Amino acid sequence: MEQTLSIIKPDAVKKGVIGKIVDRFESNGLRVAAMKKMQLDAKKAGDFYAVHAERPFYGELVEFMTSGPVVVMVLEGEGAMAKNRDLMGATNPKEAAKGTIRADFADSIDANAVHGSDSVENAANEIKFFFSKEEIV
Ligand code: GDP
Repeated sequence: MEQTLSIIKPDAVKKGVIGKIVDRFESNGLRVAAMKKMQLDAKKAGDFYAVHAERPFYGELVEFMTSGPVVVMVLEGEGAMAKNRDLMGATNPKEAAKGTIRADFADSIDANAVHGSDSVENAANEIKFFFSKEEIV
């Protein structure tokens, strides 16, 4: 079964909408195969977003991702990667379709509530970055 990585970002954790966001996944056929709440440090957040290291917003992104706890999940289901991306909505919540997680819970392009892997290949690497085999059930 296909798996993807999801992160509920610090803005959404602070708002107290972890349950509401998880409900979007579970109500749409995605199963939570692994889940943990954690505080990222600059090294972990910086390594996770290393692909964006040259972008002008990299520093802000790392600062935001370390500004409070996150909830990291492995979601599983048919077409899980694309389904999660559909449920998330566009990166900029102002452009996100009605009813998507970012349209409903995000405030800005940086504080945008959730992360989701953008390819099946990246999903496998991102899952390994956060979880051991024993943690995924
Ligand atoms: P995603 O796959 O939809 O999360 O989007 P990207 O991979 O393009 O960007 C990764 C993350 O970087 C986004 O989710 C945002 O949190 C952040 N980001 C993207 N563009 C900007 C920007 O222009 N400014 C800031 N501050 N953050 C951005």
